[in-house]
Amino acid sequence: MHSPMKVVQCWDDAVEEDIRLTDILRKHGAKATFNLNPGLHGPERSGPYNEKWKKAIRRLARGELVSVYDGFTIANHSDTHPWPTRIDLDDWRQEVKDGRKKLQDWFQQPVSGFAYPFGDYDDATAAVVADAGHVYGRTVGKQTPCLPAERPEACHPDCHFLDDDFWALYERAKASGCGAFYFWGHSFELYTEDDWTAFDAQMGRIAADKDAVWAEVYELFA
Ligand SMILES: [Zn+2]
Repeated sequence: MHSPMKVVQCWDDAVEEDIRLTDILRKHGAKATFNLNPGLHGPERSGPYNEKWKKAIRRLARGELVSVYDGFTIANHSDTHPWPTRIDLDDWRQEVKDGRKKLQDWFQQPVSGFAYPFGDYDDATAAVVADAGHVYGRTVGKQTPCLPAERPEACHPDCHFLDDDFWALYERAKASGCGAFYFWGHSFELYTEDDWTAFDAQMGRIAADKDAVWAEVYELFA
């Protein structure tokens, strides 16, 4: 007898596709954490054209954030998304502090999670994240099972939501008895209608799994 596996997920950058994504998550009763850069949200949706994705990747407008993420958990992704290890450590400390403070003010909820911009970190930048009051810092590494996290301030999720081995890792995490499966992504990576249909089915399959339960990322580190 063991308890169901906790399935946790987080999404970076607060882009406009999160509106459709959150609708799908709500439909499946899924919990999720969204990693935001408060310094990058203006009065209108905005963002540059991206060559790789062949579309503009636009951040949500400041005024719509609270309603889009209603019912979900907010985490810090730094104030303006710099490369953590490429800026002065004092500037990094300010980025981390400002991001957390603004998000707590805007959303009126405690912000205890962190995700590294570009997945970039080292010992010094990770120590800053922990010192600022975050219980974990997520990388873009890959580790199954994701628990136990050797270093919560630089923890690796199991995988990205589009990884080919997503379901193999999901089953491996379940078999390991570690108690959790953690995936991440960006909603702008859902591009075609087929992509969205597949994502809906992916979430539906987890929701229907009697041996799994949706959970919050921060619960893994409580
Ligand atoms: Zn990011």
